[in-house]
Amino acid sequence: MVDQNKIKEAVKLLLQGIGENVNREGLVDTPERIARMYAEIFGGMDQDASEHLGRVFTVENNEMVLEKDIVFYSMCEHHMLPFFGKAHIAYIPNGKVVGLSKLARTVEVYARRLQIQEKMTGQIADAIMKYLEPQGVMVMVEAEHMCMTMRGVKKPGSQTVSIATRGVFRDNSRLQEQFFGMLGRR
Ligand code: ZN
Repeated sequence: MVDQNKIKEAVKLLLQGIGENVNREGLVDTPERIARMYAEIFGGMDQDASEHLGRVFTVENNEMVLEKDIVFYSMCEHHMLPFFGKAHIAYIPNGKVVGLSKLARTVEVYARRLQIQEKMTGQIADAIMKYLEPQGVMVMVEAEHMCMTMRGVKKPGSQTVSIATRGVFRDNSRLQEQFFGMLGRR
């Protein structure tokens, strides 16, 4: 659970650390506001993918399922600045599927915590493997990292792309190309 009192104290210290007057009008409620906001944007820590992937439906058609352009917002664990973009998830069922909105919910579980993009990409793939037991899954995440674009190398709009493949997608360039084709990236 997010401890809002600790966050409030920490934000006060942070403000003092950058030389701010924590009692000035504009900042007086900021620690409280950030504490509430953090409870929301780090809310994934209290969640488990099983809440969303636990209910499956039986199918006979085991063709590739693709859910693309799932918008997400996360926080980089190295700088505590946002990174955000889109996740694309494809899997080949093995008799079990989930409602499409559940894939987006699963992305949120892992996005709403301090993250590394590559790790998040793998966690999404692993959760789908674990609960849906598909023949394979492929996840692609494209994101802009504020820690790269508002400081440091400053390349606005530059995208970091990460991919995770599991099961039959591993080392199968035909399936991977089908995935990129369905995304319109070929
Ligand atoms: Zn960063």
